[in-house]
Amino acid sequence: MRRPLLPLLVLVACGDPLPGDEPPEEPVRFALPTGQPWLIDGVVGVDHDPEVHEDSTLGGAICSNYAGDGFPACYDEHDGTDFLLEGGFETMDAGSADVLAAADGTVLEIREDQYDRCRLENGAVTCDGHPILANFVTLDHGQGIITRYLHLMTDSVVVEPGDEVACGDLLGLMGSSGNSSMPHLHFEVNTDGGDVIDPYAGPLSTTKSWWVEQVDAFDLPATTCATAEP
Ligand SMILES: [Zn+2]
Repeated sequence: MRRPLLPLLVLVACGDPLPGDEPPEEPVRFALPTGQPWLIDGVVGVDHDPEVHEDSTLGGAICSNYAGDGFPACYDEHDGTDFLLEGGFETMDAGSADVLAAADGTVLEIREDQYDRCRLENGAVTCDGHPILANFVTLDHGQGIITRYLHLMTDSVVVEPGDEVACGDLLGLMGSSGNSSMPHLHFEVNTDGGDVIDPYAGPLSTTKSWWVEQVDAFDLPATTCATAEP
């Protein structure tokens, strides 16, 4: 027996877009925000463990990253992703590594006049008497998404507030300014309401990665930038 066609036809007729029913904008996606090759494979990720462990130190922190792994894959209350400079201060003094815009955006804010040789000493960060303040760049990507690039080298920032940048553009150099135990980039994704987004997809994070290409084997995302739809 044939099914009557009428219900299907009615559904199709109702499928016309309503006024104002525009398709959603292409979501923001990120590329690896640092230059290769001076990076340690593996990142220190966002802490998804909601508990605050006040007595935890860097070596004994209780945390869970996007995949459910603890230290050294994350540390307590960490709200960004750390990319570590291989060779530490020696590599930094030899030219360091580029910090790159993870996606197209507009520069919101910068700081570059702070001391950049902060480090861990006897379990605490010291900046040799200087204020523990990071050099940084903040980018606005639209759609309520902001990225922050922290711990940059002194006077290394090459952009100014209001500049338009494309994914992969140079922002500055990796350093160790602010609350930093060694030269690295702290890359943080926020909503404009201040909420932290972990760009990695995983059982404790989102189901879809914010990276254009999340490469699980090395934890470092691909350098690929998102391409605009033709
Ligand atoms: Zn960090």
